[in-house]
Amino acid sequence: MNKLMGSKDLKVASFWSREGSLVHCHLCARHCRIPEGQIGFCGVRKVVNGTLYSLNYGRLIAMAMDPIEKKPLNHYKPGSDVLSIATVGCNFACQYCQNWDISQRKKVTGSYVPPEEVVEAALSYGALGLSYTYNEPTIFAEYAIDVMRLAHEKGLFNTWVTNGYMTVEAMDEIGKYLDAATVDFKGHGNRDFYRKYIYVPDPSPIFDALLAMKEKGVFIEITDLVVPVDEGSSTEDLRRLVKWIIEHLGPETPLHFLRFHPHYRLLDVPPTPVELLEKAAKIAMEEGMEYVYIGNVWGHELEDTYCPKCKYRVLDREGFYIRKMDITDDGRCPKCGYKLNFIL
Ligand code: SF4
Repeated sequence: MNKLMGSKDLKVASFWSREGSLVHCHLCARHCRIPEGQIGFCGVRKVVNGTLYSLNYGRLIAMAMDPIEKKPLNHYKPGSDVLSIATVGCNFACQYCQNWDISQRKKVTGSYVPPEEVVEAALSYGALGLSYTYNEPTIFAEYAIDVMRLAHEKGLFNTWVTNGYMTVEAMDEIGKYLDAATVDFKGHGNRDFYRKYIYVPDPSPIFDALLAMKEKGVFIEITDLVVPVDEGSSTEDLRRLVKWIIEHLGPETPLHFLRFHPHYRLLDVPPTPVELLEKAAKIAMEEGMEYVYIGNVWGHELEDTYCPKCKYRVLDREGFYIRKMDITDDGRCPKCGYKLNFIL
């Protein structure tokens, strides 16, 4: 498995089957049915002679060291550095994408880097783990799985920043090597928002993938990009999303409300008012979420972590950086002893 097929550009994909003259890709929830010679929605999976190939296997477009808080992952190995990698392509088409130049590039570019070299680079830079990020890692799953397996062998952890729109079948395989994930909702998970601004017909597969992640023991943090348009900022949708998280993932799941900034093709919508983010955070706390953050607002008091029981500030952050951490070695609040949801 995973042997390159005579060329560094073509690699037999996983997660597909034949359906008559078409190839059905079941890596992500788009379930593209692809004719001979054609490419799937993500732009990186092509049918050649009845076989589905991954065109972006190992073709890295970005590799950089980041603080894990940038993902954001606030509760998993706080303060650690991770080596981030990305390819081109995406299974979403967010009209405001900050990384549209790589995610929406319909041409596969990038230098081939064997999995061993990624892991060696992470170790040589002093990273404690890897992050598969910047574009949607699902669409380079075959490569990510090969890197993740090697990373575990060398004692590194693996984290994904993902839209969560993969199939349960794919997550069952990915989840064997995935330690933590930031799963990004947009517009409180409103279906019309996904249709209008992302070209995704229905966000419900994300919830199935989250359940599969949870079952696999992946540490999960949720982000929700709050966009100040009618479809992206409804209180009703917000409460529905928060109730689902509490019921299925637990109130201890870290939840980040992210500020939208106009970008790419959505330049006529203003940045999210900070008051709207604060209102969302207040509602989430009222519903019972224990760790609620506001992101993309540098210096906001909800960058910090407060003990859910006694409200003591256990972690003081500035942007992606930790100014002070006051948590016991066994992950408790030093003031009241409450067991905090951290992997230290
Ligand atoms: S991974 Fe790409 S080809 Fe496969 S279903 Fe998703 S968008 Fe389509």
